[in-house]
Amino acid sequence: MRFSAILVAAGSSSRMGTGKSKVLEYIDNKTVIRYTLEAFEKTVSVNSVTVVCRPEDMELLRLESSGLKKPVNFVTGGKTRQQSVLRGIEAMPDCDYCVIHDGARPLITPLLIDRVCSDAILHGASAAAVPSKDTCKIVDAEGFVKQTPERSALMAVQTPQVFQLALYKLALSDAVRAGMDFTDDCQLIENTGRPVHLITGDYRNIKLTTPEDFIIARALLAEKKERTSMRIGQGYDVHRLAEGRKLILCGVEISFEKGLAGHSDADVAAHALSDALLGAAALGDIGKLFPDTDTAYKGADSMKLLEEVCRRVRACGYEIGNVDITIVAQQPKLAPYIGDMRKGIAAACHIEAGQVSVKATTEEGLGVSGQGQGIAAHAVCLLTTMN
Ligand code: MG
Repeated sequence: MRFSAILVAAGSSSRMGTGKSKVLEYIDNKTVIRYTLEAFEKTVSVNSVTVVCRPEDMELLRLESSGLKKPVNFVTGGKTRQQSVLRGIEAMPDCDYCVIHDGARPLITPLLIDRVCSDAILHGASAAAVPSKDTCKIVDAEGFVKQTPERSALMAVQTPQVFQLALYKLALSDAVRAGMDFTDDCQLIENTGRPVHLITGDYRNIKLTTPEDFIIARALLAEKKERTSMRIGQGYDVHRLAEGRKLILCGVEISFEKGLAGHSDADVAAHALSDALLGAAALGDIGKLFPDTDTAYKGADSMKLLEEVCRRVRACGYEIGNVDITIVAQQPKLAPYIGDMRKGIAAACHIEAGQVSVKATTEEGLGVSGQGQGIAAHAVCLLTTMN
C-alpha cells in the first residue's frame, strides 16, 4: 500500500496576529513545519509529502525540507481548506491512500501517523480523535444556548486523517458538484454516507492556532525531550590475520599483504558495530543472528549484515544517535581510509557521516594486535526512541 501525505499549511494564520505563517514560526531551534516534516520522515507508512502553502511562503518552506530523504514537493493552496487539499491531491505522486495532516500540528508522532494509516486499510477512512474534555454547547447567533450534546459521545477530531484515495476523490467531486465546502476532511466522506472510523489520538497533538498554543507546545516539547530514552551499546570483535585473504575494514578494502580470516568477509569493525547496535536494543549478537554454521553467510558482505541489523533496531522503534569505532591494528596505516570508512558506515546505517566516528590505534607492539597476529575493533553506539 502506498501512502502519500498532504500537509495543509496554506492558511493566513490570522488568529496568530503576526502576519507571518505560523508554520514558519520557531519553537526552540526548529520551525513548526520542520517538526511536522521530521515526524513524517520517520513513519514507516508514508513515502512522500506534498506541502500545500501560500505562494509567498514556498521558498522558505522549501528550505525547511532540506536534508530529508523522503521526497517533499510544494504546491500553492486554494481559498478554502477543501480547495487547498484538492490542489494537494492533484499534485501528489501516485498512491493508494492520502494522509491529510495540518502543517501546524508539529507534535504529531510517527507512531500515531502509522496507526491511523493501518486503520484506514481496515475502514477506508480513519482519523485520530480524542474524547472532548469540555462540555460543548450549540448556540444561536446571539450567544444563547440551544442544546447541550452528551459529552461522552463527543470526540475532538485531529489530524492525520487517512482516506482511500479513490473514495476521497469521489467524495470531493460530490461536494464540489453540490457546491459544498467543508472545513474537515472526514465531513466529505460523511457527506457521502460512508463510514469514518476514529482511533484514539493524542492530547499532545495540538493544533497551533493562537499565540498561547505556542507556550503549550514549548512546554510539551520540553517534557518530550525529558521523556526521550537513550540506550547505549558496546561491541568487541577480533579476527586472526592470514595470508591470501582481503583486508576489509568498515566495508573498505585496505591494501595490505594479509587479510582477516573468518566465515564472512571478516570485517571486524562492522562486526563490533553490529554487536554494539544489537546490544543497545537487547537483540542478541551477530553470532546468533547470522550463525557461521549457516552457509548463507559464507563470504558475506558484513556491511550488508550491518544494514540488516540497523533495520531490526529501527523496527523496535529506535533511532541511531551516533556510533564510534576504534580499530586496533599494528599495521597497516589506516589514516588514509578513515573518510571512506565513515561514509560507508553512514550509508549502511542510513545516518549522516557526522554521526559516525572511526578511529585507529596500535597497541605499541603488545598482545595479539601488537604482534601482528590479528586486528581487533571496539564500538559504542547510542540509540534514542523515535517518538
Ligand atoms: Mg567477527
